[in-house]
Amino acid sequence: AAPSGVAVLNVPLVGQAGSRSRLETPAAVLDLDIFERNLAMMAQTCGQAGIAFRPHAKSHKCAEIARRQVASGAVGICCAKPGELMALFDAGIRDLMLTAPVASAVKIDLLARACAAGARISVVVDRPDLVMAYAEAASRHRTRFDVMIDLDTGLNRSGVAGANDAVDLARHAAQQAGLRYVGVQAYQGRVQHIDGFEARRGANAEANRVLAELLAALRRAALVPGVVSGGGTGSHLLDAQAGLLTEVQPGSYVFMDEAYNSVDIHGKGGPGFGPALRIAVTVVGHSSRGFAIVDGGSKSFALDGPAPHVLLGQDVVGRVEWCGDEFGRILPGAGLDALPIGTVVECTVPHCDPTINLHDFLHVASGDRLVALWPVEARGRAD
Ligand code: PLP
Ligand code: MN
Repeated sequence: AAPSGVAVLNVPLVGQAGSRSRLETPAAVLDLDIFERNLAMMAQTCGQAGIAFRPHAKSHKCAEIARRQVASGAVGICCAKPGELMALFDAGIRDLMLTAPVASAVKIDLLARACAAGARISVVVDRPDLVMAYAEAASRHRTRFDVMIDLDTGLNRSGVAGANDAVDLARHAAQQAGLRYVGVQAYQGRVQHIDGFEARRGANAEANRVLAELLAALRRAALVPGVVSGGGTGSHLLDAQAGLLTEVQPGSYVFMDEAYNSVDIHGKGGPGFGPALRIAVTVVGHSSRGFAIVDGGSKSFALDGPAPHVLLGQDVVGRVEWCGDEFGRILPGAGLDALPIGTVVECTVPHCDPTINLHDFLHVASGDRLVALWPVEARGRAD
């Protein structure tokens, strides 16, 4: 994609020393070194535990990141919506799982076309008519979907909760030409952000007891799930230890956000995944009470999470308080003065997934330099 908006103004800076602090803003910045460490850490944890990982693209919506995740060892990529999946397919990603049931014949037809055009798509189902809709679309386009039964182990969002329903649905799927029954999904979303490793382990174990019963019922019915997919950044280590899932679906680990910053993901209390996604903003004035005002508000950050930290180089110089759709106010740390007008700072993000959905490009930075711009192909695709 050709750069547009503020990205156009930043293109000439690519490769220049010191360019990172001269960005036109607001701009989404990816700290390449932190990002690469995050990628390697997930690959290493899963590799050592012998569990596969299929990262969730809902967090980044970016084909280049998906490619790098696959290069780091991921077995494929998850998507939350058909539009997100199609955008990544159009950008060259081929092994894709749609992690939510849908209710649209039009979208199912588009997905089947993508399969016929070379995608391997796995879909989740939680009702018989959806099985039939996928089967019919696959036959119509002379192709095949891989199908997973969506299980509700306590999230109360999608999925079947009863063993009989799971077995009936799996049998139904296994009988359809055009479908291949490959396994189940059990996403334990409520567990992910529980602070405290042992508290999180307890909640995960509770959901796993439900999952274990459902898996046993499927096994008894000779419908052994080859793939058991679920989990996220907050539970991936617990999932690797518990041994029920065959693959985890971590999303946020690539970027991290303040919603995850307080979560002791690795159970060591120390730093784990680092804050690779930042929003660069510029001090555009000072309020009458002397606070630095920056040029980013709710149109540049999704606000549903704890307040961002403001970074000037390696230093945390304050936190952001929102004061409008286009403005934020820096509350400086103790003993720090308000930053001068024109200063470009980077802010961590309250919640990474909806934040990246506000940006067309990632400004990739290493050290003091802007090194590349990556398009966020599926930005805006909540369809
Ligand atoms: N899998 C599913 C089905 C999800 O909905 C999500 C996030 O909402 C994830 C995985 C990734 O979670 P996280 O960003 O916490 O790693
Ligand atoms: Mn999230």
